[in-house]
Amino acid sequence: MAEENELRYDPAAIEPKWQQRWAADPTMYAAEPVSCGKPKYYVLEMLPYPSGQLHMGHVRNYSIGDALARHMWMRGYNVLHPMGWDAFGLPAENAALKNHTPPREWTQANIAAMKRQMERLGLGYDWATEVTTCLPEYYRWNQWFFLRMYEKGLVYRKKSKVNWCPECATVLANEQVVDGCCWRHETTLVEQRDLVQWFFRITAYAQELLDGLDKLDGWPEKVRTMQRNWIGRSEGTEVDFFLDGQGSGGRDQGSEKTRIRVFTTRVDTIFGATSVQLAPQHALVAAFTAADAELKAKVDELLEQQKKAREAGDLGAIEKHGVPTGRFAINPYNGERVPIWVANYILADYGTGAIMSVPGHDERDFEFATKYNLPIVRVIRPVEEIEGSGSLPFCSEDGVLVNSGEYDGMSCVDAEKKLQEIAAAEGFGEATVTFRLKDWGVSRQRYWGTPIPMIHCEKDGLVTVPDEQLPVVLPAQIEITQQGGSPLSRVPEFLHTTCPKCGGPARRETDTMDTFVDSSWYFYRYTDAKNAKGPFDPATAQYWFPIDQYIGGVEHAILHLIYSRFWTKVMRDLGLIVNDEPARRLFTQGMVIKDGAKMSKSKGNVISPDEMIARYGADATRMYALFAAPPDRDLDWQEDGVAGVSRFLARVWRLVAKYAPMARAGAGEAAAAPTGTSLKLVRKLHQTIAKVTLDFSGRWHFNTCVAAIMELVNEIQAADGQLAAGEVPALAVRELLGSLVLLLAPFAPYLAAELWEELGEAGNVLRAPWPKSDPDLAKEDELEIPVQINGKLVTVVRVAADAGPKIIEAAALADEKVQSRTAGKTVAKVILVPRKLVNLVVHPSDKGLSPGTSVVK
Ligand SMILES: [Zn+2]
Ligand SMILES: [Zn+2]
Repeated sequence: MAEENELRYDPAAIEPKWQQRWAADPTMYAAEPVSCGKPKYYVLEMLPYPSGQLHMGHVRNYSIGDALARHMWMRGYNVLHPMGWDAFGLPAENAALKNHTPPREWTQANIAAMKRQMERLGLGYDWATEVTTCLPEYYRWNQWFFLRMYEKGLVYRKKSKVNWCPECATVLANEQVVDGCCWRHETTLVEQRDLVQWFFRITAYAQELLDGLDKLDGWPEKVRTMQRNWIGRSEGTEVDFFLDGQGSGGRDQGSEKTRIRVFTTRVDTIFGATSVQLAPQHALVAAFTAADAELKAKVDELLEQQKKAREAGDLGAIEKHGVPTGRFAINPYNGERVPIWVANYILADYGTGAIMSVPGHDERDFEFATKYNLPIVRVIRPVEEIEGSGSLPFCSEDGVLVNSGEYDGMSCVDAEKKLQEIAAAEGFGEATVTFRLKDWGVSRQRYWGTPIPMIHCEKDGLVTVPDEQLPVVLPAQIEITQQGGSPLSRVPEFLHTTCPKCGGPARRETDTMDTFVDSSWYFYRYTDAKNAKGPFDPATAQYWFPIDQYIGGVEHAILHLIYSRFWTKVMRDLGLIVNDEPARRLFTQGMVIKDGAKMSKSKGNVISPDEMIARYGADATRMYALFAAPPDRDLDWQEDGVAGVSRFLARVWRLVAKYAPMARAGAGEAAAAPTGTSLKLVRKLHQTIAKVTLDFSGRWHFNTCVAAIMELVNEIQAADGQLAAGEVPALAVRELLGSLVLLLAPFAPYLAAELWEELGEAGNVLRAPWPKSDPDLAKEDELEIPVQINGKLVTVVRVAADAGPKIIEAAALADEKVQSRTAGKTVAKVILVPRKLVNLVVHPSDKGLSPGTSVVK
């Protein structure tokens, strides 16, 4: 069995050998200088959190990106394919609590372990551009950006209700609350607390973030829709009702009146307002309850209901309750007095935290008014009476005003415009746009994050840390406890500092930044990772940006992917970059699951990449991750499948090994037009090249690409007899095997490198030109066309590949099986899908119909 052994595919020997060779060559995956003259391609996978272990989701994500990067290198592009570490965050602190390992040590050990795994997988990253966000040389630029944004009024501090995760012992951004729970602790209910917090004014870009989505046609529609909904633009009107007893009300502007500003999307219905409703947190409510203990108790109850609903995750489904305050408000358009209520379904942070209730024309208001016996008035009638349009509530905007004084008879649309103009002219309101998107709360009461570069001075108040004092470095060793408050406030050497303004004693800000700040701009740093003078060189960033292809999980749709779009716009406005959006194309891969469920330690269904690599090799593991499902779908990990891919690679290995001497001999042979077996094989090859190349251009059906390569190998193997007999010219063998190896190179880089050498080809397979499909060689001379009668398959006819509809129809009708089944019947119609299908519509007896042909495109 000596020969058998010699021909055994052994990834455990091949892969480490190439891994070493590649590691020794710093130019292997390095991006070339901007001046290289090649077109650029920036392909990027989202950077991982350094947990210490790659999971299969990572392997899949990186296998997609790496295949694309390798393909683009072979296409002659200057490729940037970097990797880094999203290295700040809670797990490091939790690990420190548990094992008394300092967060930095723990993080760096994890990075080293994951980097080893990535290298073992053969992922082609340019490690010279590696970015680690917890290092001062990186996070100093977070601080620098914070200060630039502070100067521009894009950073502010305010006391507000915040989301608090008791498990994380820190504040969460709105984007980090999922169904009322913490995004990291899926079963931990998020609480509301009052805290003074730092905010980024992301709302200043709300409209631009929304508009930009229309242009991002290289992004998945679902991500764009999620962002649109999250930004949540609504047009409407803000109108001041006046507090009764503070003046005469109405349009009289003479006296200073307490105003209740309401937000409505239907100002045309304002004559039907029969109450004003305030959120329990509204400032006026506090004034009303201050001297009214009974009201206060009732309002507290509403607050409690709201809290429960928020924690249950569905504030929208809250059972509506309200209490009358005994006060009244004046409708500014007609001077009408309406009662003021406090209601639990009014949200303090939507619109103005106050609404006018129009039960005649709003479902929710109708429900509330019915429950509490408030008047219901019709002020809009339908343009055309249809069934049901006479009953209330009537919520359509396709109507005409009634019971609305001088505006009676106006259409809703015209009335809205008119009423907005009047409000603006008289100073009691205006047309507005509101967004669901709120400013980004970035303060975290945690240790392992970027220190906020601000100083509190008794004399000067808030003072910024001067640029030349950056970075504000995190103290290395601190005791981490789970007590409340920022851990940094218990480190005197950090806390106490000198005021840069007055030189007196001062205190540093002890909150750290949300770790989503780190990932908001990391991909710019890759273009110039060692820069100590700025976050990056603008000219270099301009060359590489926008990212040509970004790849990551859809779970980031309204977190990282909104924050990084915001950051890009801010950097553009700071003059650092010229692009409006970070990434031209985005791909969100599906999850890797096991037996239909998400892999998790608690379910005991985790498959470790190391285990797969040890058993089948990195190539088989990676290729299986691409082959087992379309990349955008979930992949159910089946070890049998990995074994199958491994067997396939072994077949390729044996095939190439067997015919490599012949291929090497072909190098000097003169070219000849292929005939017979070699024509058949060369045709299959060029068809495969065309398919794989097309998929890399954007369809990304890598699973069918791999299947096509498998078919090609089958066909070559089926011709083994002819190959062995020398019926295929050596030059054709060289083309077949060489191109096969090139096609495999993005998917199975180790095997490709080994076989490339085996074939006697010089140089790195990664820089070998990607094979080109010759359409003449790929063309079939004959097509097989299925023929149906009344939708049922009857036979298959063979026609010339360039046959037109008439010839195909004639061939179908001349077929024996068709003839026998249509004898004595009428062919009423021939439906033809060019190159694909013929369907004959046949009637039972001769009714004298003449056949017509319709060609379906
Ligand atoms: Zn949490
Ligand atoms: Zn001072």
